Amino acid sequence: MGRKFCVGGNWKMNGSKASITDLCKVLTAGPLDPNVEIVVGCPAVYISFARSLLPESIRVAGQNAYKAKSGAFTGEMAPSMLLDVGADWVIIGHSERRQIFGESDELIAEKVAFALAEGMKVIACIGETLQEREAGQTEAVCFRQTKAIAATVKDWTNVVIAYEPVWAIGTGKTATPAQAQEVHAALRKWFTENVSPEVSDAIRIQYGGSVTAANCRELGSQPDIDGFLVGGASLKPEFVQIVNAKQ
Ligand code: PEP
Repeated sequence: MGRKFCVGGNWKMNGSKASITDLCKVLTAGPLDPNVEIVVGCPAVYISFARSLLPESIRVAGQNAYKAKSGAFTGEMAPSMLLDVGADWVIIGHSERRQIFGESDELIAEKVAFALAEGMKVIACIGETLQEREAGQTEAVCFRQTKAIAATVKDWTNVVIAYEPVWAIGTGKTATPAQAQEVHAALRKWFTENVSPEVSDAIRIQYGGSVTAANCRELGSQPDIDGFLVGGASLKPEFVQIVNAKQ
């Protein structure tokens, strides 16, 4: 298998030049496990600033990108613009984009495909709400969201899936390692059956939802968890410990 552990930070709409300077100092000092791919999702306006402060080994991501090269899309940004200012990754389909901004499975799938075609690497987010979990729909929802993405993606090399149960995001309620592993294993089986055994073997599936320094080791030791997408804790020095969860 040999999937490289990949840890993403999602800074969301947080930060200032001052706080980003402090955070980048902490990340630069590390030390960070050299066997881990690290990506930080930075507010678009600060991407070039963060890029200028971070070592090359830490990649920078946008948190959204539209599905067109340019045009009359007020407030949006194109993948080529993110690339131009130093982000070669983009987070697409975060539950906050789905829930607050009403992004549909289809729009997210189109954005994923467009960002890939423009040469970006993509963290594509999926995950069920509490209501969906309690109704026994966890797998159905995750499979539906993944299926929409699979309808547009032909080459999965530059895609990381982030499984983020919505009820665990920013709530302090982490999925247990067993709960997370169960969904990750089901997703991998879905890839085997619906895409190919090769893609299923190679694709990295991150877990996201209240990951902290305290719970990252146990989560990271699950066989189908290939990294994390971290919100709140990615703004704190403990992000270094989360990156180093496999050490
Ligand atoms: C996220 O925003 O992707 C996330 C997982 O947030 P938190 O770690 O704060 O739950």
